Amino acid sequence: MIKTALVQAWMKRYAEIIADKADYLTELDSPIGDADHGANMHRGMSAAVPAIEDESTIDGMLKKVGMTILSKVGGTSGPLYGTLFMKTAAALDGDTEVSPSQFVAALREGLNSLVLRGKTDLGDKTMVDAISPAVNELRDQLEAGAEFPDAVRAAAKAADEGREATTDMVAKKGRASYVGERSVGHTDPGATSSAYLFQALAEVV
Ligand code: ADP
Ligand code: MG
Repeated sequence: MIKTALVQAWMKRYAEIIADKADYLTELDSPIGDADHGANMHRGMSAAVPAIEDESTIDGMLKKVGMTILSKVGGTSGPLYGTLFMKTAAALDGDTEVSPSQFVAALREGLNSLVLRGKTDLGDKTMVDAISPAVNELRDQLEAGAEFPDAVRAAAKAADEGREATTDMVAKKGRASYVGERSVGHTDPGATSSAYLFQALAEVV
């Protein structure tokens, strides 16, 4: 079972990775954006960690992370990450532990809402290109009977491959779409910060 403490450790580790990689994320956001993705995510996640300290349920924690990101992270990515966390939380009900299959189903709800809100899909060179393969891999591994830690490691690998694959894509959404074909050759910053989300989970399971 996945417990509240694991989710807390996950968010803490995610915030650390974001802090470490903030400059890199901003660098990625320079040629195809406005050079703020690292600062945006760092502002959001460094506020999210203390905000969840007193939460006792998994959904309460994820909802708080989403609300904090929504209020602290401006731009495009704030509402989208906010949606991912809040809608994942909404699919869970008040529990201090959830099964891996409940967890992946909730993540799927979060991702679906993000896709609706971003009016985007796979191949548009966005965070969806990292999150979607990760959620699919997590589900497939669990359905095939893998243990949760192994399934999460496979999901993190899929997210990272998805991140890498954005390099050759033409951006169809967000600021990067303004540079069109010139976005080719640059890895998407949002897909990169999303790959870190699954890396963080793989590190704490
Ligand atoms: P902004 O573009 O407003 O400066 P950020 O720099 O924080 O916001 O985030 C940019 C990231 O947001 C992109 O790298 C991309 O992954 C993601 N993004 C942009 N538009 C969309 C969208 N419509 N759907 C999903 N993700 C998107
Ligand atoms: Mg930006």
